Parts: sequence; C-alpha cells; structure tokens
Amino acid sequence: MRTIVVTGTASGLGAALRRRFEKTGDRVIGIDRRDADVVADLADPQERDRVVREVLDRCDGSIDGVVSCAGLGPYEDPRAITRVNYFGAIAILDRFRDALARSPQPAAVAISSVAGAFAPIAIPEYIEACQEGDENRALAAIDGRDGTIAYANAKRALALAVRRRATDWGELGIRLNAVAPGKMETPMLDKLLSLDEHAPAIRALPVPLNRSGSADEVATVVAFLVGPDASFVHGQILFVDGGSEAVVRPDDF
Ligand code: NAD
Repeated sequence: MRTIVVTGTASGLGAALRRRFEKTGDRVIGIDRRDADVVADLADPQERDRVVREVLDRCDGSIDGVVSCAGLGPYEDPRAITRVNYFGAIAILDRFRDALARSPQPAAVAISSVAGAFAPIAIPEYIEACQEGDENRALAAIDGRDGTIAYANAKRALALAVRRRATDWGELGIRLNAVAPGKMETPMLDKLLSLDEHAPAIRALPVPLNRSGSADEVATVVAFLVGPDASFVHGQILFVDGGSEAVVRPDDF
C-alpha cells in the first residue's frame, strides 16, 4: 500500500485527490486547516515544522507520494497568499524529500495555476526571493499589491521551483512535476465568481473547451503523475485548463 501525503484535503481539489487515491487502495495522510489527519496552518513556519514531525511519525519515515495542493484564493490577503501558496507549498515538498527518497517509486506534484503563466504581471524580485527561500523578502516585495497579483506570482514561483529542482530531485530518483489547473469547479471558484471585483476577470479567461473543469479531472491527472505510468515524466508543468494557456500564450511551450 502506498502512502501519499496531500495538503488541502478538506475541500475542492484536495478532497478529490483524497477520494481518488483512496479509491485505488492508497493510504492518504491529509493536511489542512480543518477536517484533516493533521490539522495545521501552513502559513505558519512553526506549524510547518509540527506537520513534518507528525506526518513522519505516522508513516515510519517513508512516503511514496506528496501533493502540495492547499492554497488561498486571489481574494485573500497578499501576504497570507505568499505564506501559504508558495512557502507552505514548497516547504511540504522540500521537507518530505528525504522520506520520498526511501520509496521504491517516489513522486511529488505541486498544484500551481494557469494564473502563473501570465508573464506580464510577473514580479521578478518576488519570484527571485521565493526561489531563494527568503520569505521576508518575498513578503516585502508583495507589499502594496493585490491578491490577484500575489496569487499569480506565488503560483508562477511554485511552478519555477519545480523546474529548478529537476536535477537534484532527479538524481535522488524522485519525480517532481507541477499541475496548473484552469477554471475548476470548487469552493474557491464559487467564491471568485461571487465577488464583483474578481468575477469579470474569471469570466474573461478563454477556455476553448467552453466549460469549467471538475475537481476529478485534476485528480485524475495528478494520480497519473504520482503513479508508475508517468515513470519518465519529470520537471514538467502540466496545464489542466481546457486549453486556456494555449490561447493566452500560444507561442510558448
Ligand atoms: P478550496 O478553497 O476548495 O480548497 C483549498 C484548501 O486549502 C481548503 O481545504 C483550505 O482549508 C486549505 N488551506 C488554505 N489555506 C491553508 C493553510 N494556511 N493551511 C492549511 N490548509 C489550508 O480551493 P481549490 O480550488 O480546491 O484549490 C486547491 C488548489 O488548487 C489551490 O492551491 C488553488 O490555488 C489551486 N487552483 C485552483 C483552481 C480552481 O479553479 N479551483 C485553479 C487553479 C489552481
């Protein structure tokens, strides 16, 4: 039986991931602010330390998969978004790397976003501070910006962090990829569509398949990336967005 650590299991994509892994017989250790095996606030560095200790205690130090999915929406405070969506997410991946290396077929996935592909709103200083692990400098760089900018930049930084780890993680035999969802039907999307300041931008995002996706459509792709069928897929950012990214930046790949 594989042991898979998933953050954000109380809602939306994380809850779908839990269902998906459990359906195929995996043991899931869920981490969330509520209703989880390990209840913790990933915005808080001390809480992150406790999470790592508690999870390692529960699995005897060996983990087969990690999915960093917990996140705050663009309607939240930019500092909180930075703490959770980048620093909480990358801490979960990095801090479980050694436990993953003990598995025969380890793999990890970070949940980024199509928002991370919007290069014109990237803040290089913020992204650089994230890559250097400098939480205070990243928080300073996001001061005075809104939640949408913080969200897009944190998700971009997370996808880049995955790519920059390709060599080190690959040498350890751990596959690490990112999934970048588009508009997915979860409580986060419901909330965005209910807010006058966010709904127009969400509605304006082109989706060639002409619909939003279900949480299960992300869970299926993540399960593939964590599993043996993706044994040569590493360092990739896989968009699960009904074609949005292809329209937004058709010449980049
Ligand atoms: P959601 O709000 O339904 O679920 C997010 C989960 O993260 C919740 O259970 C929440 O409690 C948890 N969480 C938030 N802050 C936390 C913290 N500080 N500590 C621990 N847990 C915390 O949202 P969702 O749509 O399922 O989002 C899941 C991930 O997918 C997020 O990272 C989000 O940014 C990303 N995403 C979602 C969409 C979408 O359209 N829904 C699109 C792109 C990316």
